[in-house]
Amino acid sequence: MNTAIYPGSFDPITLGHLNLIKRASSTFERVIVCVMRNGGKSPLFTPDERLDQVKRVTAKFSNVEVDSYDGLVADYARERGARVVIRGLRALSDYEKECMMALVNKKLNPGLETLFLAADEKYMYHSSSGAKELARFGADLRQWCPWEIIGELEERIRSVR
Ligand code: ADP
Repeated sequence: MNTAIYPGSFDPITLGHLNLIKRASSTFERVIVCVMRNGGKSPLFTPDERLDQVKRVTAKFSNVEVDSYDGLVADYARERGARVVIRGLRALSDYEKECMMALVNKKLNPGLETLFLAADEKYMYHSSSGAKELARFGADLRQWCPWEIIGELEERIRSVR
């Protein structure tokens, strides 16, 4: 089966991530969105909370599965029998980091191709960190995050203040 993996921290999932998932789901037979549990950043949401959020937000896509993993993307892809990893490119600043990651993944799993999708122009400047920053200042998040998670983002930001 033509399967692609879309790994990320999704802390939290934004409309930019969702746009990539939608486009990948119309290109591949199956897309596995994988919430990576081992991010070095100190996340706002626990891996299980992020997993649950991504599941709720992507429930409308019948060929999208959501999972989480503590380990390397290269190993996860091998376990799931996937040969394509999807990543997004917004600005030039994403390029260097993403290219390095693609090369490392290829070294670890030579059968794995990284496919970059250019960010949609509407979501070029969307990021999880941007959404959190806006939430801190009480901005309207409807243009940034899926409606299903806005309440919990606002609530969590309030509780960590
Ligand atoms: P990571 O911590 O692995 O970078 P993120 O959740 O921040 O995880 O992002 C996952 C992937 O989605 C990355 O390839 C990132 O470049 C991409 N991405 C994030 N935001 C957008 C966006 N607005 N448009 C397109 N791609 C995006």
